[in-house]
Amino acid sequence: EIDVFTIGETMVLFQPEQMAPLDYVSHFPKKIGGAESNVAIGLSRLGHSVGWFSKLGEDPFGRFVLKTIRGEGVDVSRCRFTTDAPTGLLFKEQLSPNDVNVYYYRQNSAASLMTENDLDEDYIAQSKILHVTGITPALSESCYQAVMKAIEIAKKHGLKIVFDPNLRLKLWSKQRAKDVLNEIAGQADVILPGLDEGQFMTGKENIEDVAKSLARRDDQTVIMKLGSEGAYIHTKDEKSYVPGFPVKQVVDPVGAGDGFAAGIISGLLKEKPWQDVVKRANAIGAMVVGMRGDIEGLPTNDSVNQFMKPNQNQRD
Ligand code: ATP
Repeated sequence: EIDVFTIGETMVLFQPEQMAPLDYVSHFPKKIGGAESNVAIGLSRLGHSVGWFSKLGEDPFGRFVLKTIRGEGVDVSRCRFTTDAPTGLLFKEQLSPNDVNVYYYRQNSAASLMTENDLDEDYIAQSKILHVTGITPALSESCYQAVMKAIEIAKKHGLKIVFDPNLRLKLWSKQRAKDVLNEIAGQADVILPGLDEGQFMTGKENIEDVAKSLARRDDQTVIMKLGSEGAYIHTKDEKSYVPGFPVKQVVDPVGAGDGFAAGIISGLLKEKPWQDVVKRANAIGAMVVGMRGDIEGLPTNDSVNQFMKPNQNQRD
């Protein structure tokens, strides 16, 4: 029995400790990178049961990805291995604290071979929330079909759908991205765009207009991520800003959005009011940017509670 089901590619991530152009880097610690598994790991750390599904290469990197995610307490029992393609890789280059580039070696990867037939409907049916991102449908036509099928299954069995657009223009054309992200947003219960993603999807400029235009139906919620400013809530009955938490030093901006999504999903499962849910998600996002790596900063419930205490930033 799982609470949350998510689908997406996780690659082996080579992230140097050094801030330098990659041509001058000679040591690459081996980690994992994938938005959906980051969210899954975030949820697991917050005490929820979560299943992550992907296709991995039958190779040492695929085994490393599986063991790492399993080791974080995520159910990987539905994952498949293939000998037809390798596990995808990615390299991160950090030139300054806020200037991070990624280099993908993921075209035609094992994950891009996922199809709708790989989905286990009975398994998805027992969970409460489906989490999808705009990355998976960008990987291939069959991945797009798999995401649409997962959404169909979720609707059939009464799951809530949480959608993080996660725009990646290295993976597809602008027009296709815009069409598909809007198509999925139209099916989602909760949409979690960054402001730039919302602007891209709607062609609107200001925060309120973007949110209004994304929430096409009254029962849709948009929570817009605003970096250090926090987030903006748009529901039928509530429109409000929830300020972010101060961060002493931004060490690595990547992964904040995934931690934020884990916080939102955790709050949804606990049926807390939106203000409280978003405040907690903001805290998690702030904790993630304070630590190098996508998953290292993902907190337990106790550590978020500690971080959210009002006098936290006066201590030291
Ligand atoms: P990602 O880089 O992971 O794709 P994103 O663009 O999806 O992130 P952000 O808006 O950067 O999303 O961050 C998500 C949330 O994390 C924000 O809404 C905020 O709550 C928190 N956060 C991010 N950056 C900071 C910061 N510098 N200070 C405080 N909180 C932050």
